[in-house]
Amino acid sequence: MVNEELLALLVCPMAKAPLRREGDTLICTRCGPRFSIQDDIPNMLIEEAELPPGCTAIADLECVRCGDARLD
Ligand SMILES: [Zn+2]
Repeated sequence: MVNEELLALLVCPMAKAPLRREGDTLICTRCGPRFSIQDDIPNMLIEEAELPPGCTAIADLECVRCGDARLD
């Protein structure tokens, strides 16, 4: 299992919002992408996260649309 202290330090890469644990995934409490945890290591790459319902691209995420996150 992922160390709870490590988990508390992790934030969403988009706008640094906190994450919540759901099974083997971490979900941004703000913009909603789901990051998988593989071999106890969270994969925080937004490009590999599962986007929330209604989002078909990273640009659709709430944090990006309201200008708090920048796409390179
Ligand atoms: Zn987020």
